[in-house]
Amino acid sequence: LGENLTNTMKKLVGMSVIDKKTIKEVVKDIQRALIQSDVNIALVLDLSKKIEERALEEEPPKGITPREHVITIIYEEMVNLLGSEAAGLDINERPYKILFLGLQGSGKTTTIGKLCRYLQKKGFNPAVVCTDTWRPAAYEQLRQLTEEMDVPLYGDPNNKDALDLAEKGLKEFKNRKVIIFDTAGRHKEESDLIAEMDQLDDIINPTEAILVIDGTIGQQAGEQARAFSQATDIGSIIITKLDGSAKGGGAMSAVAETGAPIKFIGTGERIDDFELFDPERFISRLLGMGDIKSLIEKAEENIDEDIAEKTMNNMLKGKFTLVDMKNQFEMMNKMGPMQQVLNMIPGMGNKISKEASKMTEDKIELYKIMMSSMTQEEMENPKIIKQSRVQRIARGAGVEESEVKDLLKYYNNTKKTMKGIGKRGGRLGGGAMNR
Ligand code: GDP
Ligand code: MG
Repeated sequence: LGENLTNTMKKLVGMSVIDKKTIKEVVKDIQRALIQSDVNIALVLDLSKKIEERALEEEPPKGITPREHVITIIYEEMVNLLGSEAAGLDINERPYKILFLGLQGSGKTTTIGKLCRYLQKKGFNPAVVCTDTWRPAAYEQLRQLTEEMDVPLYGDPNNKDALDLAEKGLKEFKNRKVIIFDTAGRHKEESDLIAEMDQLDDIINPTEAILVIDGTIGQQAGEQARAFSQATDIGSIIITKLDGSAKGGGAMSAVAETGAPIKFIGTGERIDDFELFDPERFISRLLGMGDIKSLIEKAEENIDEDIAEKTMNNMLKGKFTLVDMKNQFEMMNKMGPMQQVLNMIPGMGNKISKEASKMTEDKIELYKIMMSSMTQEEMENPKIIKQSRVQRIARGAGVEESEVKDLLKYYNNTKKTMKGIGKRGGRLGGGAMNR
């Protein structure tokens, strides 16, 4: 028998417990969420292909449901793309020349103000050069912003030559540690704008070119990023306007396009509405999930061993009630599908697999709702549930009578199978539940 059990266990461990259908469903959910968050479709498809491949290939760790497993994988894949932690600026050269690029209205000038404040708090004294000769009030906007913070500004509203302004600004601030260049975001033709940025890039030779992307623009972000990367090597990205409902998924195509990390986000019009980019939070937001971290932590939690053991013992003794079944459902929530729970008990895994594989999360939810419409007596002694009680339970739970009967049928089948296994002398081998 020992030999047999070992073989069974081996087979079970080797057997993939991943449910293809579940994975496909979750991947679909995720695709929907990402597309709704404006992530580029080609990018979504590329991501989901990787995710599906990995999910089918890799076995979920014990205690992690396929759903949670897929989410963990998608999180990892997105982190691969976005970087795993807040990068910030590393001012490691003198002068550290920052060139701001982006379309008009994307938030360059506002963000320069925010970045100056941020750098000041870190002990740097940045200076700013205005090369935007296109927007009439560009210099005035910067003058007000920088004056408030005592940031030196070079600019000349009467000079219409952006390249000349850049050269003079460089000279003016040649001894400063950090120089930030504001630029125009508009020209008669887009190609003129890119050409000007290209020339500015030659003159300034920036240490870091920062592309500012409006978080609300969605799919166009990739195109914009591609256009600006013709002018310079984009070193990093700042996404603005993430204070509204925009999720900023469009920015992911800018990242994919340039290979540059997102470093900061703008979350409002005020000078302090500025944060280090936090990939984890950003991804949670894209996926429309409150808090991925706690989800992943939950996936790592251990099952409540007491309940598990008691339920299993009852099951094996054939004393399997609806209370036990409810506990079993709770365990499944914590541990993953029934199949996984049962695989931990020698000899049980393959017996229940057919029934268990039919149990979708939705169905379990429905069963739980029906069980909450039952009395304690009914839960402990399901035999008493006859037609009139079925009627009452169905009404209470707002379901069809046939659904209550379906639940009872599932219960009876499970009970029968458990009894069979129990009779053959299956026992909780050496605390199999006590992982
Ligand atoms: P520029 O043309 O790229 O220099 O853009 P501006 O800095 O002039 O900003 C354009 C508009 O966007 C202004 O009305 C800003 O107040 C606004 N803006 C910039 N960043 C943010 C942000 O993070 N959130 C919100 N709500 N508005 C922003
Ligand atoms: Mg501006």
